[in-house]
Parts: sequence; C-alpha cells; structure tokens
Amino acid sequence: MKLEGIRNLRRTHLSIQITPKLSEKEVVVMGRVGDVRDLGGIKFFILSDISGAIQITAPKAKTDKKLLMKIDELTRESSVAVKGKVVVTKQAPRGVEILPSEIRILNPASTPLPLDPQGRVKANLDTRLDARGLDLRRPESLAIFKIRHHALQAIRDYLVKHDFIEVQTPKIVATATESGAALFPVSYFEREAFLSQSPQLYKEVLTGCFERVFEVGPIFRAEEHDTPRHLNEATSIDIEVAYVTADDVMDILEGLIVRAFAEVKKKCEKELEVLGHKPEVPRKPFPRLTYDDALNKLEQAGVKIPWGEDLPTPAEKKLGGLVKGAYFVVDWPSAIKPFYIHPKKDDPKLSEAFDLMFEELELASGGTRIHEGELLVQRLKQKGLNPDNFELHIKNMVAVPPHAGWGLGLDRLTMALTGTENVRECVLFPRDRKRLTP
Ligand code: ATP
Ligand code: MG
Repeated sequence: MKLEGIRNLRRTHLSIQITPKLSEKEVVVMGRVGDVRDLGGIKFFILSDISGAIQITAPKAKTDKKLLMKIDELTRESSVAVKGKVVVTKQAPRGVEILPSEIRILNPASTPLPLDPQGRVKANLDTRLDARGLDLRRPESLAIFKIRHHALQAIRDYLVKHDFIEVQTPKIVATATESGAALFPVSYFEREAFLSQSPQLYKEVLTGCFERVFEVGPIFRAEEHDTPRHLNEATSIDIEVAYVTADDVMDILEGLIVRAFAEVKKKCEKELEVLGHKPEVPRKPFPRLTYDDALNKLEQAGVKIPWGEDLPTPAEKKLGGLVKGAYFVVDWPSAIKPFYIHPKKDDPKLSEAFDLMFEELELASGGTRIHEGELLVQRLKQKGLNPDNFELHIKNMVAVPPHAGWGLGLDRLTMALTGTENVRECVLFPRDRKRLTP
C-alpha cells in the first residue's frame, strides 16, 4: 500500500469537535482507523483521535470509485487523514458523520496486528507490554495516563504554591543512599558508577541552599522483586524542607494527596468511568498509627510480627484491610530505617520516620533527617557503611539546617488513583527483572 504524505493538509477539527453545528462544512480530520464495514449501499469506518471518534461514511452511489477502493484497502490502526463534508444523520453514533472527498493513508498498519487495541480479544499483560505501542491506544491505557498526568500536575501546582523550587539531581552517582546491595553499576570511564536509588543526599544538601525543594525523577532499584508493586525503575516525587520535622512534611503530604485525589475526581470523570473506578478523596487528618499500634492491631488479627521487623506483604495486606484508605505508620525502629533518618531524641531505638500507606500499598516514606555531622557518621558506621564513601556529601552538608522530607512513588499513587492492581499498568514502558524492552 502506498504511503501518502501529509503535505499541505492540516487537521481542522478533532473528532469531538465535529457536531451538527458544522453541517455541510468541509473539514479535515486525522486519526487511526477503527472498524471498516461494507453494508451494501455504503462503506464506512470509524476514525479515532485523542479526543474520541467520528464515523466516515461513503455512500457507494455518490462516492468516487477510487475512494471506495481505498476504503477497502484500509487496515485497522492505520494513520489516515480525511477531508470531507459534515452530514447530520440519525444513523451515526453521535448524530453526525463525514462524507469523504479525499482519504490519505499516512501510514498503513500491516496485518495481523500483534494485539487488538479495541480489547475485544483479551491479551495477557506480557503480550500487551510487548506491543505496548498498540496497547497504549486502548481507552483504558489512555485513561490511566491521563489520570497520572493530572495527578502530577496537581502535585506540582500544590508544591509550587507552597514555595517549593523544582530541581533535578544527578542520576549517575558514586555511592548508595539506601543500601549497597540494590545498586545498578554502570561503567563510567575508568571507574564504576551507579544509577541513583534516590535523590536523598542531594536534596538534603539543597535544603541548606534553597530551603524547600522537590524533584520528580527516576529511581533505580536493583532488587530482584517479582511483585505487582515493584519495578526496577520507578518515578519518585521527592521533597525536602529546611527548618521543619517529620510532622510538618506529613502535613504537606496529606494536603498534596487530598489535592491529587480531588483534582483527578474533578478533571478525569470520563477516564474514571472508562476504568469503572470510583476513588474516594481521603479525609484529613489521615490516621497516624505508631509502629507499635500496627503490631498490636496485627497481633489481635492473628498476625504476629516480632518487634523490630519490617512489615512483610501479608501483614501490610492485613493492616490495609483493618485501617482502610490513607494512613500513616510512624515511630519506626531505627534499625530498619535508612542511616539518614533521625533517631527520636527521647528514645533512639525509635526513629522520626513515617510511611504513608494506602490500604495495603506503601505510597511514601519519609522522616526527619540527621543534620548533625557526627551523628551521621555514627549512623553510617552502625549501618555497616563506610563514611569515607560519603565524605564529599558530608562536606557539602556543612551546617545544613534541621530538615525533613519524603519520597512518594508516582507509579504507586497512580495505582491508588486508578484502582489498578499491577504497577506495570501505570508505567509506560516498565522495567522489571525480566523486562528491558520495549
Ligand atoms: P517497599 O517497602 O514497598 O519495597 P521501599 O520502602 O523500599 O518500598 P522507599 O525507599 O521508601 O521504598 O521509596 C519511597 C517510595 O518510592 C515508596 O514508598 C514507593 O512508593 C516508591 N518505590 C520505591 N521502590 C519502588 C519500586 N521498586 N517500584 C515502585 N515504586 C517504588
Ligand atoms: Mg519505604
């Protein structure tokens, strides 16, 4: 099939803008070919674009032969441009259709397609991710990524209104921030470097310069997870704030989560309907359970976790069923939180760390950070890390103010907003233990 150029042809309307008001007007629409049908007297096909769909109808008696032949050649998902006249009719889905005078095949799709983007033939997630370019054309995929977009937009707005500066920190780094085992090495000239696990140390330094910073960027975790909520590359929304403690940044997080849910409900009604999901906007203040409260609740429900251990997935599931919605778990044992988390002044075996949970899903972790140089070195040693590897960072932390912050997983937040059960649905091109392409 011949590929035709777009040349001087430009779209005059999106499909959604084709309404009976435009009756008899000439328009140009561009989009993807859906079903092509031949019903005796007429041939027609559905053209969809980012806004929706419009029917292109060619009555055989009134349409040029060559044009009719071209419609026969059309394959689903091909890119086309259609010039034609708007006609009001009861037969078409939206009471209006286009009678084509010209059809240009901008890029034909070869058949058979590896996937049916209309979703009539169900494909498993792996097949869908292999053909993600087609999979993302499904209305459900578009809905998820529009919701993700609006949530992120709301979050950026919220942080900017609260005087945060958006920053970008290096993703090629020399040392770990979380733990040595979970790093992807990269070759960096004559040295070994790593992909950044988190902007943690940089954003802490920046509190001494810009006071309130946030970053939206990739984090890389080399853990061999095989779960519906872990990827090896994720997107993290990170904030760090000078002259505050954990409680203050929990308030910010609470406000921001409420805003994200509310904005998505307001701006993405159509998308939520496509997904059949009705999220409830969490109510402030979110419940704040201590780690001890969580263990007690779990024990009462028959799940015993020894004090000092992290909550394993089955315990998180149980707790999510007991507490519901969004809630914080605070006062974690210092031993299971990273070295940069501040121990509690009155009880150093506990820390000023918190997790934000949404049902069984951890959405964010944060806390008050250590700003005292000596304590930082001591904590590094306690965690079995070599302070020499952090020398330049410690040097850059000179007299940083007391500060606190958090990291919120955008992919997981999108799961919560869209009601999806696998984080891979919420990431365009996910990276996991087995998947490095497309
Ligand atoms: P988990 O306990 O669920 O493995 P974590 O405690 O290791 O997560 P943090 O280091 O606290 O993760 O990162 C902050 C946030 O970033 C997490 O709450 C989560 O939303 C997100 N995140 C972290 N690791 C991943 C990952 N591998 N895949 C997707 N999101 C992640
Ligand atoms: Mg965490």
